[in-house]
Amino acid sequence: MSTNVGEQAFENVRKLIDNVCDRMNVERGCRLRLGECERELTVHFPVKMDDGGIKVFTGFRIVHNDTRGPAKGGIRYHPDVTLDEIRALAALMTLKTAVVNVPFGGAKGAVVCDPKALSLRELERLTRRYAVEINILLGPESDIPAPDVGTNPQIMAWIMDTYSMGKGYSVPAVITGKPIEIGGSKGRFEATGRGCMICALLTAKHLAINLNETTVAVQGFGNVGATAAKLLAGEGCRVIAISDSKGGVYNPKGLNLGGLLAHKRETGSVIGFKDTETITNAELLGLQCDILVPAAIEDQIVTANAASVKARVIIEGANAPTTPEAHEILCDNGILVVPDILANSGGVIVSYLEWVQSLQSFFWDEAEVNDYLQRIMTNALAEVLEISQHEKVDMRTAAYMLALRRLAVAMATRGIFP
Ligand code: NAD
Repeated sequence: MSTNVGEQAFENVRKLIDNVCDRMNVERGCRLRLGECERELTVHFPVKMDDGGIKVFTGFRIVHNDTRGPAKGGIRYHPDVTLDEIRALAALMTLKTAVVNVPFGGAKGAVVCDPKALSLRELERLTRRYAVEINILLGPESDIPAPDVGTNPQIMAWIMDTYSMGKGYSVPAVITGKPIEIGGSKGRFEATGRGCMICALLTAKHLAINLNETTVAVQGFGNVGATAAKLLAGEGCRVIAISDSKGGVYNPKGLNLGGLLAHKRETGSVIGFKDTETITNAELLGLQCDILVPAAIEDQIVTANAASVKARVIIEGANAPTTPEAHEILCDNGILVVPDILANSGGVIVSYLEWVQSLQSFFWDEAEVNDYLQRIMTNALAEVLEISQHEKVDMRTAAYMLALRRLAVAMATRGIFP
């Protein structure tokens, strides 16, 4: 899996924060604080490999801002991940938790590694050592990680166990996205994709698009993309194309998603699935469809391909899949973009519910979790739409306005120590 994340990632988020702060006359101290990350930890640590050798890995944990509550954000395992990218993703978490109004700040972590090239034992040793290296930041009241690209519930379980061993007792609330058996929440695994589906349905209703005639293309067939595709199909949409890092498959009559999942499990890719035409990721992004869900990685819709996007609505399942320049082109072409900090917030919303359940040792059934998610996302989307219409701005600007308003008030109310 290869990514080409520009050096610009954090600068792009900063610029957007600055522009929106200008528009809203946000106090200068507040924007200065949001333009930097509060805490940045880089670690280089050894791991014993199965062949008896030792490798040194580099990891990061960044807290962007914790004014509104404990820092919250995923951990990514990827060979090309950079410090700048993690700063940007941490800042997006601060904005995301604010836009949906859950009482968290923003953080992100990563280890530069290819998890697919590690054995299970190596992955466990790497994870446990990384958890100890960043232990100084972690805690249910201070910084609470979750899964992201390349990590999964098992990895969350190892981090929870490592942290708990250091304390001498179980601390399930130190991490979310855990397996249910050790305090995870029902509904968490599907939460981000479910949130994308909720946004897509509400947006379709807003634009008076009939779901039964709606065509959907999804980039990325991991946690977010596969869940969003499955749930949208369940609502009557026709999912016509899906891709992964190796390429995509297309069938204008609709894909058999159960079969496609099994094919991906067996072969490692969606490519070659029966009754489909093979397409590239670039072709998928330019397909004629109603709803496009980029749910892979950053910087996929860029200046060079934005004009070729033909979807009516984009639901940003991934973080920062669209560059600022490309976003302008999409808006000029009348495409409604539901921005990442809103569209993929389902994960952090149910992480919040998991954290609450872990702290109280009192667990909810899945219907309650899904109901709560639906309510929070519906409110947030309505608030963002309202600002967008009232201020005559695109939905990304509107979402930033809502988030920055909440952050500015929180910062002013707390004041600065000492
Ligand atoms: P994942 O690792 O489960 O899946 C990623 C998918 O993207 C895989 O199918 C992979 O093959 C594909 N992919 C990778 N590089 C690609 C490329 N260059 N072109 C096309 N496809 C490519 O990851 P995930 O958890 O589904 O996360 C996907 C995105 O959603 C990321 O941007 C992540 O930050 C964001 N996100 C995830 C969550 C969550 O709860 N998992 C929450 C919020 C946001």
